[in-house]
Amino acid sequence: MSLKERDKKHLWHPLTQHKLHPETIAITKAKGCILYDEDGNEYIDAIASWYTCMYGHCNEYITNRVASQMQQLDQIIFSGFTHEPAIKLSEALIKILPDNQNKIFFSDNGSSAVEIGIKMALQFHFNKDEKRHILIAFEDGFHGDTFGAMSVSGLSVYNGPFEDFFLEVKRIPTPDGKNNEAILNTLNDIVRTNKVAGFVYEPLVQGAAAMKMHDLKGLNAILKFCKDHDIITVADEVMTGFGKTGDYFASLHIDTKPDIMCLSKALTGGLLPMGLTTCSEEIYQAFYSDDIRKGLFHGHTYSANPLACTAALASIELLQSETIQQNIKIITASHNVFDEHIKTHPKVKSTRQTGVIFALDLNVEMKRYGNLRDKLFQFFLDRGVFLRPLGNTIYIQAPYTITKEQLQKIYQVTEDVLEIV
Ligand SMILES: *Cc1c(COP(=O)(O)O)cnc(C)c1O
Repeated sequence: MSLKERDKKHLWHPLTQHKLHPETIAITKAKGCILYDEDGNEYIDAIASWYTCMYGHCNEYITNRVASQMQQLDQIIFSGFTHEPAIKLSEALIKILPDNQNKIFFSDNGSSAVEIGIKMALQFHFNKDEKRHILIAFEDGFHGDTFGAMSVSGLSVYNGPFEDFFLEVKRIPTPDGKNNEAILNTLNDIVRTNKVAGFVYEPLVQGAAAMKMHDLKGLNAILKFCKDHDIITVADEVMTGFGKTGDYFASLHIDTKPDIMCLSKALTGGLLPMGLTTCSEEIYQAFYSDDIRKGLFHGHTYSANPLACTAALASIELLQSETIQQNIKIITASHNVFDEHIKTHPKVKSTRQTGVIFALDLNVEMKRYGNLRDKLFQFFLDRGVFLRPLGNTIYIQAPYTITKEQLQKIYQVTEDVLEIV
């Protein structure tokens, strides 16, 4: 029996309605930018497997380091104990994070990193004897699938069963340059209660909202407003972190720096799961006390797993390398050229780009939306490219190690698909 048949027996996949989408593709090998399936097909991984494998799959620089680390130390409790991989990772991260970030808290995934960021923001005020319970978030943000993370995400039909149990959140539109003033007015109304603890946001690019991009000035004005009102800013850089926007972090493009940052996805180059929540010294100091109850009593068993720390450190070294920095520039420039070429096509409604992230909205009528996504997805697969359209948006976020030829092929299928929509 094939793997995809055996899969059907016991496996329940994430974000899947199995009755509507019973089929899976069984991948047997992944190397560089190519995925190999059990039927002998090859696919260019044009979204780096959900934005994780940015240095290519099974990158030997990373796998070799982890292989040698596992001869030395595997898992060790991180409460009361420490180890070199975690320390080295913290030192490397602090060098590339925005200047104000000074402490690093470990977890295992992006949702948890956000959950911890939310808890830090709420407890920050609690520890100062100020009970603030409201959070601000963007209307169409995405921050993960645990309860706090779901609460600050945009309302969606998928979260219907849980809405009654959410934290209290006030949602604001994303800044597009035209609504900047209106957003500040809304914020002024929201803060009248004096109960706002924090603002959770994806800086500059919102992945799950089909690569929606922000007006930089508008976002900065919101962050500045938050600072002026003691609202803790929590930047969810789970998707944007580690080079995607052209700089190490999206927050580095913005004048007003976040108090707290959430990281995961490309952190370990896709080799092992890990999440991180970083914060400024000011946040940390609100927890540093003779009173034990003021500590952050949150912890995951696999916190700072030495193998994941090693993968993350090797990934950061790659990110800083001349080659990868050069590739980021080449991909960005190459997207620019493709953008110029494709944006006037009658089937293209609009295009947008930040760093290595490129997105294109199709000019299709809403009623044809239905199974359009499935049709596009299959069209790309049949031509050897793994792209994952969202609604009427096709977006590219390929590994930094993608070759010129592979990138051209991704552009070609994107252009070809316009003939069938
Ligand atoms: C993927 C993602 C998350 C959730 O991360 P998981 O590791 O899937 O829990 C949170 N925020 C953003 C911006 C993401 O892209």
